[in-house]
This record gives sequence, structure tokens and C-alpha cells, in this order.
Amino acid sequence: MSLVPCLAAAAAGVFTWSFLEYVIHRWLGHDRRFRGNPFGKEHLRHHVEGNYFAPTHIKLRVAAVATVVTALPAFLLASGLGLAWVAGFITFYGAYEVLHRREHTHAGIGAYGRWARRHHFNHHFVDGRANHGVTSPLWDLVFGTYQQPDVIPVPSRLCMAWLLDGDGAIRPEFARRFVLREARRA
Ligand SMILES: [Zn+2]
Ligand SMILES: [Zn+2]
Repeated sequence: MSLVPCLAAAAAGVFTWSFLEYVIHRWLGHDRRFRGNPFGKEHLRHHVEGNYFAPTHIKLRVAAVATVVTALPAFLLASGLGLAWVAGFITFYGAYEVLHRREHTHAGIGAYGRWARRHHFNHHFVDGRANHGVTSPLWDLVFGTYQQPDVIPVPSRLCMAWLLDGDGAIRPEFARRFVLREARRA
């Protein structure tokens, strides 16, 4: 099997995950019509608690099942190229999981890392109907849910540790992009 078709098949797998990332987050995570589905419940808790993530062992199990379920038909349909597609798909899913977790736990490195955090925390704290993509804005642009982040008000209760200095204030290097919002009193 030559390298170029193999890389193209893996890239198609990356593209497939990118689309599913948007679909799962937007419709299973945020559409009222699908309320109560297992992903939606975990995702709601992620939004409410901020630092909650569905258990890794569940994600690994789902990824293992998805690999088995897709690998056999992909192999039968396109042999080695089918497996390259599965490899691209599953690897990029893993990359998405790592990126999303690190957005919450660590400051971004480089222009992409900073962009990814602003895009995602705009979704968390400004408009949950916008910016469903995590690894890219592609499908938000396609489906018209892209929102250019302005200064992002972060509720102090949900604030990411990397955003704060030792006194609990926004670190100066992030102060142009994020502000703290105190909880509203009832
Ligand atoms: Zn998140
Ligand atoms: Zn969400």
C-alpha cells in the first residue's frame, strides 16, 4: 500500500471525527429534543461543574467499541485504506479528548492553544448555542454557529485555575481576553 493514499484515508478519518465532534456536541449535548441521552447528561454536568469530565474508563470503552465496530466494515470495504481511515478517526478523537481536557486545566501554548481556549470558553460562558467545535471552527462556520469571542466573562465559581494568579485575580497576560464575573445574588 503506498503512502499517499494511506495518508489521504487517515486524513478522511480525521475529517470524519471533526464532523462527529460537532454533531455529538451540538445535538446530543445541547439540543432539547435529545435531552436525557447519556452523552447529554454527562455534558450538562461538565457545563454545570466546569471541572467535571466523564470518566476516562467509559470513554476508553466507547472508543474501543467504536474501533471494533468501524474496523471490520472498513477493512471489508477498503482493506488497508479502511484501517488507515479508522486509525485517523480514532487518533483524532483521542487528540480532541486531550485538547478539551487541557483547555480546562492548562493555559494555551501558541496561537492555536490560545484560540482553542477562547473559542471553547465562549461556548461555556457566553453562548452555549455557539462554538460547538473544539478542535476547529470548521463546522461552526458551515452550520452558522460560529461566534467570534470578545472579552469572556468567567463566573468565579467555574474559573479555570490557569487563568488566576495567587490572589485569585485574572493573570495580567489573560486580562485582555477574560474577566471574572461574580455570581449573581438571587
Ligand atoms: Zn469544556
Ligand atoms: Zn457544550
